[in-house]
Amino acid sequence: MRATVGIIGAGPAGLLLARLLHNAGIDSVVLESRDRAYVERRQRAGILEQGTADVLRAAGAGARMDREGLRHDGIELRFDRRRHRVDFPALTGGRSVTVYAQTEVCKDLIALQLQDGGPLLFEAEALAVEDAGTGAPRVRFRHEGREDVLECAYVVGCDGFWGVARKAIPAELVQVFERTYPFGWLGILADVPPSHDELVYARHDRGFALLSMRSPSVSRLYLQVPDGTDAGEWSDEEIWDELERRFETADDWRLERGPITQKSVTPMRSYVHEPMRHGRLFLAGDAAHIVPPTGAKGLNLAVGDVVTFARALTHQQETGSPDLLDAYSETCLRRIWQAERFSYDMTTLLHRAPGATGFEDRLQLARLERIATSRAAETDLAEGYTGLPFGG
Ligand SMILES: Cc1cc2nc3c(=O)[nH]c(=O)nc-3n(C[C@H](O)[C@H](O)[C@H](O)COP(=O)(O)OP(=O)(O)OC[C@H]3O[C@@H](n4cnc5c(N)ncnc54)[C@H](O)[C@@H]3O)c2cc1C
Repeated sequence: MRATVGIIGAGPAGLLLARLLHNAGIDSVVLESRDRAYVERRQRAGILEQGTADVLRAAGAGARMDREGLRHDGIELRFDRRRHRVDFPALTGGRSVTVYAQTEVCKDLIALQLQDGGPLLFEAEALAVEDAGTGAPRVRFRHEGREDVLECAYVVGCDGFWGVARKAIPAELVQVFERTYPFGWLGILADVPPSHDELVYARHDRGFALLSMRSPSVSRLYLQVPDGTDAGEWSDEEIWDELERRFETADDWRLERGPITQKSVTPMRSYVHEPMRHGRLFLAGDAAHIVPPTGAKGLNLAVGDVVTFARALTHQQETGSPDLLDAYSETCLRRIWQAERFSYDMTTLLHRAPGATGFEDRLQLARLERIATSRAAETDLAEGYTGLPFGG
């Protein structure tokens, strides 16, 4: 099997990359280890930065997002039983975010790919990337019980944090920067209309809570829980009681309860793998970096990487110059480190670390107060949340 670009992984990064390349007249093959139903069901991100929504539209994958997605012009910060709204367009010159689930982004991109894109093989597991440092890299993979080889001009590892692509970069060339947090998020999906029309980020002495949504009738809510918590330890009633405590306000705001349809725990981690390129192998998305979900950046960073790669390869094909491909890792990492900083700031602003002292509690409240009273501090948050421009 042959392709100009071999793409490992059909998450948002791999699927969008295949679309961008198709639109630029560059052929690709996508290998995905899971089946289609699994990929389309995997509950994860839900907030699209302005730039991400614009890219999906420009790629011809934005029609359903524009019909069903919810434009959000702000978020609410909640602390000390008070509420403070951050108004994105007013602070950023008109930028906003779109609430549209990652599952739906993936469904839309899969449908387009199967309709008129290149091959997308489900249940095709990449086993290794070989000869990455040469002009003829290969992906060895297993599909329908048989081993096969995909020969390519370029390989893009979009295979997430647990994938195989980054293992093909020699260890002596790699630097990893990492931080794990001593807490996770217990996330639920509930069949109940969201109790607020924008996301609510709550800092509470008992820990962080987030009110989010997937649609006008489905709520997505999160609770900070100790590292290693099993979702089954929490009954539905305990979850709603705890959410109620952490979202409590001094006014008459009420949290609506409803049937919980899904519960899971997500660990919190910051991780960056440098470089993101070795020879003809490029890493994109979670394969190269992870952010804690507090800043809603993971999916958006994956989009930034593949936009940068597609532009660089198109430039190379049109002009013969490898300049942008050579600069891929640096270009992506500049934006990634800004997102790492933003996600870290949001996480330490809102979560209560085990053993936090009264001093640290007061500092968190002072930081929140600063955002609520300083246009400069609030603008920094709004710019980070709605997203920095894509590089390249
Ligand atoms: C609970 C949760 C909530 C989140 N919330 C947000 C949010 O609000 N906003 C946000 O921006 N981000 C959020 N994220 C992060 C976001 O979901 C990820 O950053 C995003 O999925 C990254 O996309 P990706 O395509 O790089 O990787 P993935 O989505 O992980 O896709 C990788 C794909 O590669 C496949 N694969 C792996 N190994 C192989 C192999 N050997 N061969 C073939 N295929 C392989 C996998 O099956 C998978 O389909 C959240 C994540 C979680 C877990």
